[in-house]
Amino acid sequence: MIPLSVPNFEGNEEKYVLDAVSQGWVSTGGAYVDKLEKDIAEYVSTPGAVACQSGTAALHLALIECGVTQEDMVIVPALTFIAAVNPVMYIHAEPVFMDCDDSLCMDPAKLQSFCEEECMLVSGQLIHKHTKKQVKAVIIVHVFGNMAEMEELLSIARAYHLKVIEDATEALGTYYEEGIYEGHMAGTLGDYGAFSFNGNKIITTGGGGMLVSHDKETLRHIKYLSTQAKDDPHFYIHNEVGYNYRMTNVQAAIGVAQMEELEEFIRRKNKNFALYESLLENTETGKLLPFRSGIRSNKWFYSFILNKDICKKEIREYIGLLQEKGIQTRPIWGLIHEQKPYRGCVCYQIEKAKYYSERIINLPCSTNLGEDEIKTAAEKLKECLSF
Ligand SMILES: *Cc1c(COP(=O)(O)O)cnc(C)c1O
Repeated sequence: MIPLSVPNFEGNEEKYVLDAVSQGWVSTGGAYVDKLEKDIAEYVSTPGAVACQSGTAALHLALIECGVTQEDMVIVPALTFIAAVNPVMYIHAEPVFMDCDDSLCMDPAKLQSFCEEECMLVSGQLIHKHTKKQVKAVIIVHVFGNMAEMEELLSIARAYHLKVIEDATEALGTYYEEGIYEGHMAGTLGDYGAFSFNGNKIITTGGGGMLVSHDKETLRHIKYLSTQAKDDPHFYIHNEVGYNYRMTNVQAAIGVAQMEELEEFIRRKNKNFALYESLLENTETGKLLPFRSGIRSNKWFYSFILNKDICKKEIREYIGLLQEKGIQTRPIWGLIHEQKPYRGCVCYQIEKAKYYSERIINLPCSTNLGEDEIKTAAEKLKECLSF
């Protein structure tokens, strides 16, 4: 069986975990938490980072820090993992679903026309004409390690006074190689950036996340919220409602080891992607979705887009056939605005999200895949699709 995406522990993971355990620092305090926060902040070039229990928790804290309340709306993608959107519901705000472009990330043209046509600026606040609610923030997801079109998205957000939360949970290590943001990492371009270390992400801590920002005071407040909002550590004074969103030292120990390997993982992801590309370039059944040019992508997940003129079966049938042949693949996500808790929410011209959701199969992409396994996966894919 060739799995879709499994973690890779070739480095110091065991050593650091044993170290944390033997020192008795297994819970939410400990040197590995501090070290991982420092490592991430250095890697992405922010003045700090706050370790969290998950990427979802990091996004939740970012929304709270933006001041989003139940009176507000937040623009979110229709095509993404649902964890990017659920935190909007945690604070009882209202999501507005936006379409993607051909990078699978948010379409700047549609964001622009939504702000221009469906909303109006009233004393510095963007008000949605129909609901009269303030649109306070936008969550931009860097899908599969690609970079969203940040130059345009950020200038629109600035023009319409929107806070920008980057969901970079899939894009640790992706950065611009040219343009005005040359050298800038995904997650550090907007007001907040969230990362995830879930088991299938580019690096893992078993489960965990990180929130970054360029503002030290913001980071301090986020840390405070994540640790039960303790105003006095000895006398239990709490002046705000806090959360237990801390990462444990055992998780962070794994993370510190994974950070040592991150660049090697990205190198392998890129190499394997190039190999798939060459193996699949002459098939009429579809093609690999390229990553945006002008960026160094972490190439976290590989997307094969079916040519529906030739592959007329439902995606789930192909995935089943591949499973029988020992190749684990998956469909892209179900559209979020079509999921039960989100039906009836405001949606804006969703077309491409639907198109891609019906056509994409994600191929095995673990960093420990050998050349032979990739050749086998590509071979079986061709077989199943022409069936
Ligand atoms: C993985 C992921 C998350 C959530 O991260 P967790 O650490 O699993 O909570 C959020 N958004 C997207 C797009 C993701 O892929």
